Amino acid sequence: NFAERSEEQVSGAKVIAQALKTQDVEYIFGIVGIPVTEIAIAAQQLGIKYIGMRNEQAACYAASAIGYLTSRPGVCLVVSGPGLIHALGGMANANMNCWPLLVIGGSSERNQETMGAFQEFPQAVRSSIYGRPGACYVDIPADFVNLQVNVNSIKYMERCMSPPISMAETSAVCTAASVIRNAKQPLLIIGKGAAYAHAEESIKKLVEQYKLPFLPTPMGKGVVPDNHPYCVGAARSRALQFADVIVLFGARLNWILHFGLPPRYQPDVKFIQVDICAEELGNNVKPAVTLLGNIHAVTKQLLEELDKTPWQYPPESKWWKTLREKMKSNEAASKELASKKSLPMNYYTVFYHVQEQLPRDCFVVSEGANTMDIGRTVLQNYLPRHRLDAGTFGTMGVGLGFAIAAAVVAKDRSPGQWIICVEGDSAFGFSGMEVETICRYNLPIILLVVNNNGIYQGFDTDTWKEMLKFQDATAVVPPMCLLPNSHYEQVMTAFGGKGYFVQTPEELQKSLRQSLADTTKPSLINIMIEPQATRKAQDFHWLTRSNM
Ligand code: ADP
Ligand code: MG
Repeated sequence: NFAERSEEQVSGAKVIAQALKTQDVEYIFGIVGIPVTEIAIAAQQLGIKYIGMRNEQAACYAASAIGYLTSRPGVCLVVSGPGLIHALGGMANANMNCWPLLVIGGSSERNQETMGAFQEFPQAVRSSIYGRPGACYVDIPADFVNLQVNVNSIKYMERCMSPPISMAETSAVCTAASVIRNAKQPLLIIGKGAAYAHAEESIKKLVEQYKLPFLPTPMGKGVVPDNHPYCVGAARSRALQFADVIVLFGARLNWILHFGLPPRYQPDVKFIQVDICAEELGNNVKPAVTLLGNIHAVTKQLLEELDKTPWQYPPESKWWKTLREKMKSNEAASKELASKKSLPMNYYTVFYHVQEQLPRDCFVVSEGANTMDIGRTVLQNYLPRHRLDAGTFGTMGVGLGFAIAAAVVAKDRSPGQWIICVEGDSAFGFSGMEVETICRYNLPIILLVVNNNGIYQGFDTDTWKEMLKFQDATAVVPPMCLLPNSHYEQVMTAFGGKGYFVQTPEELQKSLRQSLADTTKPSLINIMIEPQATRKAQDFHWLTRSNM
């Protein structure tokens, strides 16, 4: 019997794959090479989906989006050295976004020491999803991958359990409820932490039961639908500036929320912070109340407390009136820009036409400067965790990886769903070759490249030609200019997808209609806009970066 048992051997690669499977890993993104190829093959044999990408950076962005969408870490598989270095961008971005991620790198061969059973895996999974989620790295020595080990000597650790649910202190919940009740101009801010926490049900109840105005952050969009009557997204600046009580549900007071400081806020605004990370509480401002815990659980605590005394925020208040008026005038201003018939098109015209046809249940992935900022105000989200963008780190180059991650999840979980990936022309360039990945796996993605011939702004063809008549390009081309009239749609046709080059609203409408009707192929619509197009006038600049 002993002899029989000891004969059965299994490779290190298979052990690793089985360890991942035991941890419920469904997807691996990566680029194979020595020594990790065998791991990818072994994983596929166990039913884990392997998506081979064209650059580790995009692979790592994709894996991190899996973490956000599924609450279990996505895996990025890379070779050591350059592969790992490329993946660092994705690891940094995942940490900044608080998204779980597991990066597995193959390093050089071990010398002699033995490597303990695979305890590193469950530990890495646990630290990626417990507390504030983030990135983890597991290093696999090359010789381990091909090592043969006796099957009976392996003990796989059990699947790491979902994080325990923590709740806030009862007294803090009482105080928070009374601060909310006494607010004259309350505002709820819903961040991507609320989306990650799956808190949509409790937060929607809080909004509706007490008739409270809410504002989603960029990726908080959809936790409560954008078209909800209590969404004050269209009066964002006004709402932030004059609120006297702000409840933050998984949203940090970083640059996205202007650090919580004047002039964007009242100097004496009372913040109520709900977050799972104790270190985050009190960052930049002194909050009136801190609620440390899981957002869904804490919101339920708040609901229970508020329920004790009948109360709702008066719908006829001056605050609601102010917000509604501002929303109306802002919406009118963007509609006016959108209705402009002049060519090339402006951002608003483009996004209004896109919004008209956007399927309600689609994912919206977006990156770019104005493309992302303006797009966010026009393109609506109706479902939680259906918007992915440059995020906390402001990372450009995430779009195609995120779209690919959303597409593989959608294919498995809700077939028929589209991923609309709205890219600036500069943003598209970071990972443009992932179009081949999209075509190889035939993913339900429509790429919209909003093309203004540059980073922030560019030149038209005539200005470009004039500029280069007698001079060398490197001496005179402004650093933010890209080649005018680039036919990015040909990147898609090169791999068998559909490409459209559009210059008018009619062409845009038609190509989008055709793209949505053809479920057999991905598309790329290259939308030429006015190279100098900008945003409508703002009271404040939305971003703290300089407006180039
Ligand atoms: P946004 O960009 O939407 O403003 P941030 O990334 O700044 O959002 O903030 C998200 C916050 O949510 C982080 O501080 C993170 O610690 C917190 N968070 C993540 N998951 C949970 C959870 N399950 N419960 C409570 N807070 C969470
Ligand atoms: Mg551009």
